[in-house]
Amino acid sequence: MSKRTLLAVPLTRCDPPLEEQVAAAVRAGAELIELRADCIRDDDAVEALLRRPHAVPFILTVRSANEGGSWAGGESERLALLQRLGQCGPEYIDVELAAWQRSAELRRKVATLCERRDEPTERRSDHESSAAADRHDALILSHHDFGRTPPELREVFDRLEASPAGAIKGVFAAADALDSCRVLAELRRRAGRREVIALAMGEVGLATRVLAKKFDALLTFATLERGGESAPGQPTIVELREIYRWDALGPRTRVFGVTGWPVTHSLSPRLHNAAMAAEGIDGVYLPLPVRPAYEDLAAFLDYASENEWLDLAGMSVTLPHKQHAARWLTQRGHSLSELARRCGAVNTLVRGPDGGWRGENTDAAGALRALESVAALSDGGLDGQKTDVLGAGGAARAVVAALVERGCQVTIYNRSEPRARRLAQDLRCGWEPWDRRATGSGEILVNCTSVGMAPDVDALPVAADRLRAGLVVFDTVYRPAETQLLREARARRCHVVDGVEMFVGQAAEQFRLWHGRAAAPETLRETVLGVMS
Ligand code: NAP
Repeated sequence: MSKRTLLAVPLTRCDPPLEEQVAAAVRAGAELIELRADCIRDDDAVEALLRRPHAVPFILTVRSANEGGSWAGGESERLALLQRLGQCGPEYIDVELAAWQRSAELRRKVATLCERRDEPTERRSDHESSAAADRHDALILSHHDFGRTPPELREVFDRLEASPAGAIKGVFAAADALDSCRVLAELRRRAGRREVIALAMGEVGLATRVLAKKFDALLTFATLERGGESAPGQPTIVELREIYRWDALGPRTRVFGVTGWPVTHSLSPRLHNAAMAAEGIDGVYLPLPVRPAYEDLAAFLDYASENEWLDLAGMSVTLPHKQHAARWLTQRGHSLSELARRCGAVNTLVRGPDGGWRGENTDAAGALRALESVAALSDGGLDGQKTDVLGAGGAARAVVAALVERGCQVTIYNRSEPRARRLAQDLRCGWEPWDRRATGSGEILVNCTSVGMAPDVDALPVAADRLRAGLVVFDTVYRPAETQLLREARARRCHVVDGVEMFVGQAAEQFRLWHGRAAAPETLRETVLGVMS
């Protein structure tokens, strides 16, 4: 039977009063509270709280400085405080494995405190190994590495597991999503026989905090609000529940994500999680940051392919990995759609039932859907249209490939001429020097440069007098949604199409590829606009 992974909120300060913080945390969904006495620094307040009856279990922690805590005093004072507060009834006491191994006195005193505890939570009732005679159910022995996720991760967990702790905890600084996967592997390996907490720190470790529930950890940590973190990378309880679908996660939840570097500010997690929730799909979508080199992406994708237990079923791919993904698929003998091959870039990875991957480019489909939202261009209206495209980067490559396939006569204008020439050659269309962009005669104008993107929101990629009434002006920039180019175009009675339309279109196509059904377009657009407002 699967156990329940508890949502734990760490308390790290005493203002507002601890009791108010506990009440707020429980209202927000906390099932466990960690009292970080080393950070709170009001021992009387912690003691008073512990002595009162409480609705959820408490973990007592006085974390030493050498494992990332704020304890400034000596080791004997720390032990004295642990003893004083430990007698007041916390359900768990968390001590570093290193300190436990170092000090016979600490072992004796903490073991005595733990022996006084009853079974700490209902979670324990079906846990086979809690019967082990020499085990202290209330004891959490922990190891923290703020520098890295070490290659010898398995040995670190072996040492933790050989201890008499009822629960073992390993927390590591992650370099990227591959480290998060390695931490999750240790959780999965041990969770059937022991209570385990295994987390990766930093923004890049978010997957471990969310997937703790899928892989049956004892708990995950989430803060009541920003600034209350007891370790880097903890989400807020609202983010965990409202964006990352905590309440809906289970052992069969399929995993999706966005890989790139950086991906922290990607809108895609909100978008895809909201769309899956609206459709009742058992899935979660996470940031899966992978460092910029091809080798980093290849290592991550190789690991995800070999470790099917991760249930990684689909991925968005963003800068700088779109071309790397195409290369990896080719090198490993996976498949690539014709469009992705022509773009030379993959923005979507789909995993087949046989475990193989297929690369797609939904930026192209998104751009077409966006343009076809203009009535005159729907139902074959794009065919034969003269189209001027500004830019020759990744977005331009996808947009031009789609337009050429639809029979448009495309002319590319790009600041750096060799890039324009190469794109025109690859996709068999025309190009003109950047200086001539205002003289183009296309009925459609597409901006695929980053000009006009935040923060430089007043910039225009082309002089405003190029914007004649009736011209279709499509700006792929989506931050902001209403760019200066679109404002000028609207004022001159052009038909305008914004980058949000394309972003939503490419996400809708990803959704269809992964889940075999359409996402409600209004859910997608409203989510994007809601996040950006
Ligand atoms: P990219 O590969 O880095 O290409 C950037 C393009 O912008 C290049 O053509 C570059 O010209 C040009 N550029 C940059 N600064 C310029 C300047 N000051 N003056 C003139 N040209 C300039 O980036 P990308 O992936 O193609 O992204 C381009 C834009 O498309 C971004 O704003 C991005 O947000 C947007 N986009 C939107 C979606 C969507 O779904 N709506 C999807 C993908 C991308 P050079 O070659 O001369 O450097």
